[in-house]
Amino acid sequence: MPKRPCLRCGRLTTNPSRCDYHQSEYMAQRQRQRDAVRGSASQRGYDSKYRRIRAQVLKAHRATNGEWCEGWGVPAHASADLTVDHITPLAAGGTNRRENLRVLCRSCNSRRGSKPDGFTVL
Ligand SMILES: [Zn+2]
Ligand SMILES: [Zn+2]
Repeated sequence: MPKRPCLRCGRLTTNPSRCDYHQSEYMAQRQRQRDAVRGSASQRGYDSKYRRIRAQVLKAHRATNGEWCEGWGVPAHASADLTVDHITPLAAGGTNRRENLRVLCRSCNSRRGSKPDGFTVL
């Protein structure tokens, strides 16, 4: 196998792109990056915080309104399948904070999808 220069130090090596030393340094760096991505993407603390807020929003809604959906694109109606909707969708920069959450039934929530409020349902 022909030797190639290491991408980092130029020392000739039989490895595809880096000498042993720089190959192991590179792998350690890749592992750190993967760990960082996993940590921020799952944000476990944030998820459990959101689950708690969501449960509080539903509980408060039921205490005031009972099993009642305010309706999205349809008149308000009774529903036993309440879910929490993001008023400003997360994809549009909304947050998981309580003031961005409201209760809709599952079918209103899925009808709404990520459409903005004020969208006319035909
Ligand atoms: Zn090297
Ligand atoms: Zn509904």
